[in-house]
Amino acid sequence: MFKKATLTINAVSVLLILFILSSRAQSAELKCTYVASMGKPFLARLVSPYDISDVKISWLDRQTPLQVTRGDGKYEASILLGSDVRDTKPGIYTLTVSYFERGRQWTLHHDIDVRPKSYPVQELKLPQAMVTPPKEAMARIKEESLLISNAINTITNERHWELPLKRPVDGIVTSPYGLKRIYNGSPGSPHRGVDFRAASGTPVRCAADGTVILTGDHYFGGKSVYVDHGNGVISCYMHLSKINVLNNQRLKKGDIIGYSGQTGRATGPHLHFGLYLLAHAVDPMPLFQ
Ligand SMILES: [Zn+2]
Repeated sequence: MFKKATLTINAVSVLLILFILSSRAQSAELKCTYVASMGKPFLARLVSPYDISDVKISWLDRQTPLQVTRGDGKYEASILLGSDVRDTKPGIYTLTVSYFERGRQWTLHHDIDVRPKSYPVQELKLPQAMVTPPKEAMARIKEESLLISNAINTITNERHWELPLKRPVDGIVTSPYGLKRIYNGSPGSPHRGVDFRAASGTPVRCAADGTVILTGDHYFGGKSVYVDHGNGVISCYMHLSKINVLNNQRLKKGDIIGYSGQTGRATGPHLHFGLYLLAHAVDPMPLFQ
């Protein structure tokens, strides 16, 4: 009789210990690549069977909160990340994810090897004033670069983007992302977007749902539109002949943001499309499929 009672107490203790251990165990899983090519975007997904909230990620010195969605009995927070052919050095970087689940805060660290990628060289002949802007244009360029920097550094909590992104025009790629550019014989900044062939007046469509955060006629980009898609994802459309949207306007994927042209530093009519992930300019092409 006495022996049986002891056994029962032991069984309860074992269950209690198992319960404590399981409640401390990590349950959310971070699904993300361990190797990424320079400039190529990738998706990081935090997936949990439990309700997660207050999800934040930190990558290449930038942070953003993530929106949590629920489907198939799972909770998920996704983010598009990448490295910038101009600014990131190859190496191993740590992606840090923190979140709240089952009454406590959790943190995950995930190392990603950003490997070098060699991009082709392109020589361009441009009017010298566009390569070395005249002194009187400097104040304007400085002012515009501040506006652009603010736009691409925009971080908003609500996620509006979905994959795949919408290709903004149907034309072929005339200059891919990452080209090492030589302007009139002098090396310049690499190409941080994609140029699509587009005859003047071709409708240019928004890559995903979002909000217009900047429009303007800029020295380099010409008539330009910047759209915030949430959680640090920003798209931009340059050299337009006409802008069709207003600041703060809400857009749906596929809406016409303007018409292509050759305003600003352009050698002919085309669309320059840029995609910024936490302010890092990445190659958007893999995200259109
Ligand atoms: Zn371009």
